[in-house]
Amino acid sequence: SNVNADTKTYNIGTDVTYPPFEFANDKNQYVGIDIDLMKAIAKEEGFKVNIKPVGFNAAVQSLQSGQLDGVMAGMAITDERKQKFDFSKPYYRTGFVMAVATDSKVSNLKDLKGKRVAIKTGTAAGNYALSLKKKYGFKTVTFDDSDNMYNDVVHGNSVACFDDEPVMQYAISTGTKLRIATKPAQLGHYGFAVMKGQNQELLQKFNEGFDKIKANGEYDRIVQRYISKKT
Ligand code: GLN
Repeated sequence: SNVNADTKTYNIGTDVTYPPFEFANDKNQYVGIDIDLMKAIAKEEGFKVNIKPVGFNAAVQSLQSGQLDGVMAGMAITDERKQKFDFSKPYYRTGFVMAVATDSKVSNLKDLKGKRVAIKTGTAAGNYALSLKKKYGFKTVTFDDSDNMYNDVVHGNSVACFDDEPVMQYAISTGTKLRIATKPAQLGHYGFAVMKGQNQELLQKFNEGFDKIKANGEYDRIVQRYISKKT
């Protein structure tokens, strides 16, 4: 029989700028830990993926309305999201941090009183910031992608932004003029998401492929491709 005849292609939504998980390289190709993991798992399990870099919030909305088969976008597994989506096994550890401009005097949440804070639409870190807004008395401004959120802080329009620690660390290590001001909060994990009760076959293939690439060292090679071990 012809194996290729029943090779399925799945539409996978992702973010546009969320390095080291997904970003365009200098040849304008989408790369990153999420992209490489997805491709390695697809190869292992014999399916094809059509990667759609639509932005984080758009990807989540499109998954919810059934226009995508899955989302692989540094998406944190949260109780709230589990109401709408089914998640794969956790594949990467994360937590929320607050970042400020390198020369900023802001060093903790109390320093945010009366100030403007940049957050990213529909993100777990953004929702975390919103949950602190009243207590610490700050205002928020929302961006659809991480670059614009960081730039608002770098240019001094906002005094701080909230994002995930591995993403913030990577941005800083590649030249973004920010520094992390808080310890990571609400530690959790990223997972691959499908619509609740839908695409269980894809979810199962993802989990099986994930176990295989964890066992054969491919997962570690992918992570090390983007994150060099530093002391
Ligand atoms: N990790 C964050 C979340 O799960 C943001 C993801 C993203 O911006 N791509 O909401």
